[in-house]
Amino acid sequence: MYNAYFVPNPATPNECVSFDESKCVGCNHCVETCRCDVLMPNPEKGSPPIVLYPDECWFCGTCVADCPVGGGAITLNHPINQRICWKRKETGEIFRVKYEYMK
Ligand code: SF4
Ligand code: SF4
Repeated sequence: MYNAYFVPNPATPNECVSFDESKCVGCNHCVETCRCDVLMPNPEKGSPPIVLYPDECWFCGTCVADCPVGGGAITLNHPINQRICWKRKETGEIFRVKYEYMK
């Protein structure tokens, strides 16, 4: 029998979703609902899932929407290039996020 190991991808270091350990009950609904198999159950029962393939995440938000606990147990961390600016459709106004807010 072999042990299985995973190595976090340094380019996207497990940041596509993050868990609040004080709220997550480890029910694994998010693991089951993710169609990209980004997450895997934590071998330690009751602990937050492990982000196994962060670079496979589509940022669809299904895992966050399906969490029965809600309230920040799981949070989606959008890619940094999508956080830099956003445009108001009605006016065309562009807003930029200051770097210090993205830390
Ligand atoms: S945002 Fe979508 S693709 Fe990414 S982990 Fe959640 S369910 Fe999976
Ligand atoms: S984040 Fe929500 S859905 Fe995922 S294991 Fe924790 S409580 Fe369950």
